[in-house]
Amino acid sequence: MKYKALVKNSAAKHDVKFVEYEVPELKDNECLIRVKAVGICGSDLHMYDGHGGYDWVTYPLVLGHEVVGEVIAVGNHNATEYLSKRVVIDPYKSCGQCDFCLRGETNRCDFNEFRTVKTPIEALRYGFREAGGMAQLMVVDIKNIIPIDQNVSDGVAAISEALAVSYTAVKKVEHFHSKRILVVGPGPIGLGVAAVLIGSGNKQVDMLGTAVDENRLKLSKLIGIKSTFMSEEEILSKDFKGYDAIIDCSGHPSVPQMAVRLLKRGGQLVLVGINSVPFSIAMDQIVRGEISIDGSYGITRRNYEEVLKLAAIPSYPFEKLIAEKVPFTQCTKGFEKALNKVSGKVVITM
Ligand SMILES: [Zn+2]
Ligand SMILES: [Zn+2]
Repeated sequence: MKYKALVKNSAAKHDVKFVEYEVPELKDNECLIRVKAVGICGSDLHMYDGHGGYDWVTYPLVLGHEVVGEVIAVGNHNATEYLSKRVVIDPYKSCGQCDFCLRGETNRCDFNEFRTVKTPIEALRYGFREAGGMAQLMVVDIKNIIPIDQNVSDGVAAISEALAVSYTAVKKVEHFHSKRILVVGPGPIGLGVAAVLIGSGNKQVDMLGTAVDENRLKLSKLIGIKSTFMSEEEILSKDFKGYDAIIDCSGHPSVPQMAVRLLKRGGQLVLVGINSVPFSIAMDQIVRGEISIDGSYGITRRNYEEVLKLAAIPSYPFEKLIAEKVPFTQCTKGFEKALNKVSGKVVITM
């Protein structure tokens, strides 16, 4: 049996093409997925557009790690229970044995190696170091499939891995459902953070964007955000009493300094947006303000499973985060749309 896949050939800009593959014989631990939909992630866009910082991925590469599909074959006859199940893919293959893995902190697994420089973790496989799901078919380790509830649509399932990134960040904030929170950056991850908070019943969530984010800020309002802003001054001009937490999904280096001004004493800044440039903050502000800063990286298996449960609950406005669906044959159009900052996620349908 043959199938088509979208392959990024090298690190060069737009170096993608459709390639036809033969389905390999499945190993005992593997299953074959008929892909139904794939979300386009920011990292896919960086790879597609040839941005720096992705020299660690393995080219040529079938892109796509936000995958929903149906199991159509299994390598081992003892695994037939998975046949015809609708599933999403966990793109991580952590070691399962290190202290982090044993604690469920699978997004910290470096296969027991300590690293002074925190690089993208080795465990990140499908769509980065192994063939991903922008393909009609995908071979996946059975350990990496998660069956999904029938109430979760294919579209929401296709963005659920990204939602898990947002959810992982939100969970860094204790009692997040009742705190006054500012989300910075209304891109897909920021909108996901907002949607998780709104779904949890939090009515004190604001969103900060810039002038280019007008439509994304409108979408924020649509999913239930109380106030949206385009500058720090605008936030301070109201009867402002400070935030308990700020979740930055923009990666802009000005955010940490702004955050210490906008946070209440004891407040918390969570950084999700990635940027390799340093920032500086006056130490006395951290000390006197008892401000804490947390990084949030990727997802854990547990958080992925939890967010999939949330996705089946109607109060979570995840469906609204799907900006557009494009057919597989027009993948590159989808990439261009996502690069042009549509509001929400672009999903490729098979
Ligand atoms: Zn991603
Ligand atoms: Zn591990």
